[in-house]
Amino acid sequence: AETWDAVPLAPPDSIFKLTAAYKADPHPHKVNLGVGAYRDDDSKPWVLPVVRKATQLLLNDPALDHEYLPITGLPEFVSGAAKLILGADSPALAEGRVASVQTISGTGANHIGALFLSRYYGFPGDKAVYLSDPTWANHFAIFNNVGIAPRTYPYYDPATIGLDFAGLLGALGAAPPRSVFLLHACAHNPTGVDPTRAQWAALADAMLAHGHYAFFDAAYQGFASGDLTADAQAVRYFVQRGVPLLICQSFAKNAGLYGERVGALHIVSPTQEASARVRSQLSVLQRSEISNPPSYGARVVALILNDDALFAEWRADVHTMARRIIEMRTELHHLLTAELHTPGNWDHIINQIGMFSFTGISPAQSQALTERAHIYLTVNGRISMAGLNSKNIRYFAEELDKVVR
Ligand code: PLP
Repeated sequence: AETWDAVPLAPPDSIFKLTAAYKADPHPHKVNLGVGAYRDDDSKPWVLPVVRKATQLLLNDPALDHEYLPITGLPEFVSGAAKLILGADSPALAEGRVASVQTISGTGANHIGALFLSRYYGFPGDKAVYLSDPTWANHFAIFNNVGIAPRTYPYYDPATIGLDFAGLLGALGAAPPRSVFLLHACAHNPTGVDPTRAQWAALADAMLAHGHYAFFDAAYQGFASGDLTADAQAVRYFVQRGVPLLICQSFAKNAGLYGERVGALHIVSPTQEASARVRSQLSVLQRSEISNPPSYGARVVALILNDDALFAEWRADVHTMARRIIEMRTELHHLLTAELHTPGNWDHIINQIGMFSFTGISPAQSQALTERAHIYLTVNGRISMAGLNSKNIRYFAEELDKVVR
């Protein structure tokens, strides 16, 4: 037998497969709605103007070197990132109760967070995590990799194309006390369905009542409302209520730094003393995983986070991206309801939030869009709103109208 005879061939990642199929399609009107990255009105990647500016500052700095960063990352990046999600006036930060490490973007934050829990969290019985149904597919693999079994809780209700709030509350009540629940901080991927403020309050009550742990994944801060502060509301509220939690933070989307892998993990503890122990063990885990994180992207983000003028420019850039996406929602809703009179209710298009929308169409209808109209989307009917623009939105609306009739 040969060395790797027992290795089964894995299927290609479905999103990357979709992108490859789109690229290979010669059709002039093809549309890519699969990609989870922002595109401008010309379907092009957008380098944020503030990122260009910060990059120039960095390259012109004669003191810039390529030494290793500390194990837990660039200090001014990590502290700025913590303030961004928790608030500059956060009592948890002032009290020294937050242990933060720089990570390989949001994926790395999820991984180190999951690894830390697998080592040190007092799970009730088996090691398990509750994930929303549906969720970012990588969550399953990330937790499985560290020996934590993924389970799902009801989240999306196909009947209303909205939140199954009763189902979610029921799952919080049915799980053993001290269970770990992964929550999307805002702009839920893939559904675009977020709890309301009142629902977040009820969720915090239930989490506290059952002693559950909140594993927040914040990959889209700024993308939901266009406002970085407003999008941190759920996380800050949970911290204020004293729900035990950690936060995985990504700068891939809101800074357009996808390939630079800039992120952080923040673990909020009840005391400064506990936080020091947590930080020390995060450092040990980080050392064996990556030794120390990459510096370039963290330096760019640190410049932006720690300079008032650059920070103000970034807020405006984030708003530009979110506003374009919200305009596409309004336009698509208008085309379907007012112009094409497409059968069905399409209000979810404007009620959903962030980069993605669950259209509610069937797998067969998704496939028909791809085969007949060269429109690429995942079979679950999720579309990336960032893939729509003023040039292709009418074509998309008309083809969507045809497949649902
Ligand atoms: N979490 C969610 C919910 C996501 O959608 C993504 C990216 O699509 C990530 C985390 C991680 O992204 P990255 O590792 O590029 O920061």
